[in-house]
Amino acid sequence: MVQEFLQRTILTIPPILMALTVHECAHAWVAYRLGDPTAKMLGRVTLNPIRHLDPIGTLMLLFSGLFGWAKPVPINPRNFRNMSRSIVLVSLAGPLSNLFLAALFAIAYKLFEAAGPEFLSSMPTLWRPLFAMIELSIIINVALAVFNMVPVPPLDGSKVLGNLLPPKQSFAWAKFERMRPTGKLHFGHYHGVLANWLKLQEEYECFFFVADWHALTTDYANPANIKDNIREMVIDWLSVGIDPAKATIFRQSSIKEHAELHVLLSMITPLPWLERNPTYKEQIEAIKEKDLLTFGFLGYPVLQTSDIIIYKANKVPVGIDQAPHLELSREITRRFNHFYGEVFPEPQTLLTAIPKVLGTDGRKMSKSYNNAIFLSDPPAEVEKKILTMMTDTARKRRTDVGSPDLCPFFLTFHNLYSNEETINWVREGCTKALIGCIECKKSVIPKVIAALEPVQKRRKDLEADPGRITEILSEGTKKATQVARETMTHVREAMGLE
Ligand code: SF4
Repeated sequence: MVQEFLQRTILTIPPILMALTVHECAHAWVAYRLGDPTAKMLGRVTLNPIRHLDPIGTLMLLFSGLFGWAKPVPINPRNFRNMSRSIVLVSLAGPLSNLFLAALFAIAYKLFEAAGPEFLSSMPTLWRPLFAMIELSIIINVALAVFNMVPVPPLDGSKVLGNLLPPKQSFAWAKFERMRPTGKLHFGHYHGVLANWLKLQEEYECFFFVADWHALTTDYANPANIKDNIREMVIDWLSVGIDPAKATIFRQSSIKEHAELHVLLSMITPLPWLERNPTYKEQIEAIKEKDLLTFGFLGYPVLQTSDIIIYKANKVPVGIDQAPHLELSREITRRFNHFYGEVFPEPQTLLTAIPKVLGTDGRKMSKSYNNAIFLSDPPAEVEKKILTMMTDTARKRRTDVGSPDLCPFFLTFHNLYSNEETINWVREGCTKALIGCIECKKSVIPKVIAALEPVQKRRKDLEADPGRITEILSEGTKKATQVARETMTHVREAMGLE
């Protein structure tokens, strides 16, 4: 009995080792082929079982009559061009390789069977266990494939299922967002950008950073306020609910790898691509008071590309009007991949609806137009600014009828803060001259102030704890540096610089 058990155990070991080794090697090989060299660098693209086995787990499970235990193949999904698709393929590779092995052994089994019992009895004694091992190999490989497809973490089935579901349930997708340090933020920033970030941080792996180098492309002559502006901006981010536990927050200039990648991308970016960039021409025309004919300003899109792809970001949130700007980044990425291999995923636009936020003078809300209502404005100041905000210019007197659709105040504040009932009341009151503009504005001011209250409370707490911002930026820098360094290792390898 004991002898039979020992015999069976010994016969089981080679098929188990082979099944596990092929399974793990298939994961590693497919990951490598899809652009992630992590497993390859750690020696996991090999049929040497020792590299894949967890010896203690294997022994424990072997004696209980179960399969051995393999160390999970290390994968860095950021290296994949199409993250979800690649994770599905890598996860399927293990179970499929086992099914393939099972099919091969089944063919061998059938051949032995077809040869008949005489053939088996004529085999040398030492070869006889081979038939039993073939039989065991079929069972073990099929069982390993089926077991791994159960959708329970950490089995392969859960990764396949997780990445076939919509993004919310999928593995983290790298995302990137930046903001130039212009100081305190206003309602335009909040509704145009930060409200979107709050949603994104729940759904994606996000990198939010203060683009201080970008600020220098236009404000190189006057960098004195940048440091204070960074602080104010990060306080505003945190005050509205950007959570450092969910998103990586840092300062662009703290990660020197952005600059290194910028230099390398500069080598391959054709000058005409930059010169014909419509934003470049528009800004040179619009900002006459500054000399923007600099190398840095022309190369802004190259730095922007480096910011995006260094985190292997595959989604970049942009409003519809900015979508063409990302096209240049995609072209530069394609050119890099063409010369040096598929190192970077091509960043895709994540179109976001950006509500219209107009300033007190009816133009787009902007600090430079001096028409902004800031998130840090005290309630009395918010009220004062709203009460003096421009309305429908056709409504000069209380008795004149107006049109809410031509009223900057309505388009911004009622649209953002009023419910349907109030909006209907305003529409009727304005178009029939039943209400005055002050009455109309006062119906929404308390809602705006109430929405700002928790934001301003958080701001106060953060201002009282100056070390907190430094700590958050330094934590974010550590995390971002790790990712950026890893990417740069691949970039240097791909370019033959390592
Ligand atoms: Fe604008 Fe309201 Fe005045 Fe109409 S009543 S013009 S919607 S502020």
